[in-house]
Amino acid sequence: MALPAPRFLPRAREHKLLLLVFAVALPALVLAGTAIWLTLRVSRQVEAESGRYNAYLAEIVIEAFERELVDEVRAALGPAQAVAQTTGDHEHIRNALASRARLFEAPHFVPLVELEGYSVITVEGQLLIYGADPTGRRAHPFAAMLLNGPDGNPVGAGGWWFNPRSFLAEHLRTVILDRLPTSQRMYGGFEQTRHLAFSILDQVGNEIAHVREGTFPVTARTEPMTGPFEGFQVRVVATPTSPVAFAARLVVIEVVFIALLTLVMLGATIVGARYIMRQVELVNAKTSFVSNVTHELKTPISVIMVAVETLELRRYHTEDERDKFLRAIARETDRLAHLVDNILDYSRLEAGQRTLDRSPVDLRDVVNATLDTFRLRLEDAGFHYEVTLPDSMALVLGDSRALQHCLLNLLDNAVKYSRDRKDVRVTLDTDDGLVRLAVSDRGIGIPPDERARIFEKFARVETGLVHTVKGAGLGLSLVQMLVRAHHGRVEVTSTPGEGSTFTIVLPALDGGRAVGP
Ligand code: ADP
Repeated sequence: MALPAPRFLPRAREHKLLLLVFAVALPALVLAGTAIWLTLRVSRQVEAESGRYNAYLAEIVIEAFERELVDEVRAALGPAQAVAQTTGDHEHIRNALASRARLFEAPHFVPLVELEGYSVITVEGQLLIYGADPTGRRAHPFAAMLLNGPDGNPVGAGGWWFNPRSFLAEHLRTVILDRLPTSQRMYGGFEQTRHLAFSILDQVGNEIAHVREGTFPVTARTEPMTGPFEGFQVRVVATPTSPVAFAARLVVIEVVFIALLTLVMLGATIVGARYIMRQVELVNAKTSFVSNVTHELKTPISVIMVAVETLELRRYHTEDERDKFLRAIARETDRLAHLVDNILDYSRLEAGQRTLDRSPVDLRDVVNATLDTFRLRLEDAGFHYEVTLPDSMALVLGDSRALQHCLLNLLDNAVKYSRDRKDVRVTLDTDDGLVRLAVSDRGIGIPPDERARIFEKFARVETGLVHTVKGAGLGLSLVQMLVRAHHGRVEVTSTPGEGSTFTIVLPALDGGRAVGP
């Protein structure tokens, strides 16, 4: 039968436990916090690095688009360039441009003298002329290159109106997959771009094309495009397969891991500390148990010795005096037997060797039998006692001797823990399929926060009469074990200074069918 852990000086114990846990927990929490903080810092550093790299790549993509446009224009300009070199005639050049118009929106030739107002950028040593329609008729920009006449001098700019939105959307894949690897600024880092997602955003931030899906927004960087693609933006973001995403997942796992490890450590500390303190308490309890029991044994033995010696040497004067000594011997022998019974019963119950000898029991018989042996003690101690037994009573299935033992313990306590008001009441009643046997006293009472622990083994209330009244701290735990073995419970109500009532509640046999006197 499992017992609750013994508790002594609960508050001091809680304090010690708290102190111990705090001494281990505080450094552990500081270490865990530092580890988590460092991990998060490294992770943020990695994310910032990744973001910087993404911004750099966005710039390279922008350049690559300009190269793509220049290459497209230069390739398409071949026939027009040939015409310009042979004739230099503007009309012929326009016709030659028209033949390749399907690549772009519409051909356009600007003579040298009219080139003012257009912009120029250099892309890998080549001039790209671009700009909006000065007449305002066309919504899209113009992209062109210089055409040289027969004398080798430029005659004007030949090129096409083109839609930058569809150009960007159509060429994104080529730029990312073909042009990026050939960029000299990639420094061999192309492999990393496989774990990046690229997209083109329009003026209002809507995506118009993308290569791969990016799902790691903290690393996203958006760079504005310039030149003929002004207004559009390139966005680069890490994909779930990127090292930075992998690192972020690892960080989450690591933080959870550190937190769990700390919890386990704290749990182990608490459990370990409680265990150690329980052991220390048990050792203390056993020491005080031995000294209490020794005292409990010594007192009756010395009383018996004195009484026997007096009788032996016939030091009494009257018959009454002789009876008094005989009564003292009988009473102290009872006390010794009771104590030895308690200890033996307790150790047998704990070892699981005590079996109950059950039969239908009328508790009135139990009360009468117990009082027969205890009456002497009550009268000698000057107690007034009152026993209330009902006329008819439900039986219980139980061990009559064990139940007598329980009642004896409750009566013994009532006597031990009473001072001036020496009143003991024993009542028995049946109600609702339950049988209640109550012992009330008008003694010192039990403080509310001690009521639960008085049933623990070796437990004694550290106030009141406990220092003058010796006890082993086993009586109530024995009562509780025995009553529980009868499928019952022990209830206690008490007011400090006013008295206590201990009630044994047992299930009635046959659903509470009562039997007469
Ligand atoms: P013991 O009486 O040997 O100390 P018990 O297990 O019988 O051990 O009781 C445990 C503690 O409960 C006692 O030490 C006492 O402090 C308290 N106690 C028990 N019965 C009473 C009572 N009737 N009135 C006041 N205190 C009691």
